[in-house]
Amino acid sequence: MTHVITSLCLRDGGCVTVCPVECIVPGKPTDEWPLFYIDPDTCIDCGACVPECPWEAIFPEDEVPAAFKGKDGQRLSMPVGTAGFDVAYDGTNHDGEAVHLDATKVLKAGEVVDLTPAIQTNKDYFSKGPGYSAA
Ligand code: SF4
Ligand code: SF4
Repeated sequence: MTHVITSLCLRDGGCVTVCPVECIVPGKPTDEWPLFYIDPDTCIDCGACVPECPWEAIFPEDEVPAAFKGKDGQRLSMPVGTAGFDVAYDGTNHDGEAVHLDATKVLKAGEVVDLTPAIQTNKDYFSKGPGYSAA
């Protein structure tokens, strides 16, 4: 199995340094790949990344919620051009560096969203991601 980063990810980056097998990488370019991604072939399912995420974006693959209930003001991030994702996000990451995302959606309290498409997107990143480098 693997762990999966869902569209709740806002590129904090805090999960990267705790991964013992260094299988979490930032998506590039961000307009096409706005999340961080976990290489499913390398992840050993240790779970160390989960508590490091301030946005609670990481789940074991078999626990990614199909009916996630959002909190008021919580955001999802998707590739630029995704319908309904038209709010820019400006924040800071784990190291205090600026983070800008063009295509996010702000959730209302109790809004239900399916986070499971992230399972395939994470797999796709390592097979098709133009910015991915194993180095
Ligand atoms: S800590 Fe969370 S928000 Fe930050 S890169 Fe990892 S999954 Fe994304
Ligand atoms: S579960 Fe463990 S091995 Fe997998 S991405 Fe998270 S920290 Fe890395």
